[in-house]
Amino acid sequence: MARLLDGKAVAAEVRREVARGVDAFVTAHGRRPGLDVVLAGEDPASQVYVRNKEKAALEVGIAGRVHRLSADVSQAALLGLVAQLNADAAVDGILVQLPLPPGIDSLAVLDAILPAKDVDGFHAESVGLLWSGRSGLVPCTPRGCMRLLAEAGASLAGARAVVVGRSNIVGKPMAALLLGAHATVTIAHSRTRELPAVCREADVLVAAVGRARMIGRDWVKPGAIVLDVGMNRDESGRLCGDVDFADVEPIAGALTPVPGGVGPMTIAMLLENTLLAARARALAGARGA
Ligand code: NAP
Repeated sequence: MARLLDGKAVAAEVRREVARGVDAFVTAHGRRPGLDVVLAGEDPASQVYVRNKEKAALEVGIAGRVHRLSADVSQAALLGLVAQLNADAAVDGILVQLPLPPGIDSLAVLDAILPAKDVDGFHAESVGLLWSGRSGLVPCTPRGCMRLLAEAGASLAGARAVVVGRSNIVGKPMAALLLGAHATVTIAHSRTRELPAVCREADVLVAAVGRARMIGRDWVKPGAIVLDVGMNRDESGRLCGDVDFADVEPIAGALTPVPGGVGPMTIAMLLENTLLAARARALAGARGA
């Protein structure tokens, strides 16, 4: 029977750590770390995510602000706001909530964020730093997965890891982090041949696909650690992952549930990234950089 990796409990611990770090930052620097979230349009899921991010930031003592823009905002106005936040010394982290409204060049907006404030880790420079093994801000969901692997006591050096999904926000950065931890990494995707057999090789299997219960027990090596990033609705509208939990639980070594696994880690890591960005900026300021 798989050990359950309780993301809710680990995320609560991360939030407590961040709250302590924020207190120390306020004592040292006389201000709170600032996280500014830009939300353009009325996408209902984005509205919920942004509200949760703001609430979580305020709970740990981070000054969270949300900039709400209408769906017909121009590219120039969005870039203008990002430039204003880049220049604002009270802002440590900038997060532009995706998806942006149609007609907006998302990559151009993400790349306009100062890398030192790129708490989502999606800027091209952050991506380059991650893949070249240098320190920078790392995307929140994969970082949350790494924390869960650490909590599971996973020994990654030399382990076979398979990441299913190659998105810029989850699959690719997840693979980079596992590689950095000396795993032998395979990135699988929709064109991968014999996907179940590829997955069965994995000591660590990360599912980041977006297909309800795609991964069953025949895809999983007995004893493997399985992280389920997927957030899907099944036929009856219930939230479920990419992994068929009931089917896989008897044979996996450790497994994240959905909900309550990877999901809660993402916001916790955003808070941690904001604190890390604030500390790095304060240090750079002290050095006169
Ligand atoms: P995405 O951008 O749609 O990428 C999905 C990836 O899955 C793509 O690389 C795609 O391959 C691959 N894929 C699709 N169908 C497949 C199949 N039948 N077999 C193998 N691979 C297949 O999605 P994403 O943004 O990475 O998100 C993935 C899932 O994670 C979603 O359910 C999302 O809601 C969830 N998510 C959760 C969190 C969290 O905090 N828990 C955060 C982000 C995302 P191709 O590249 O070949 O098309």
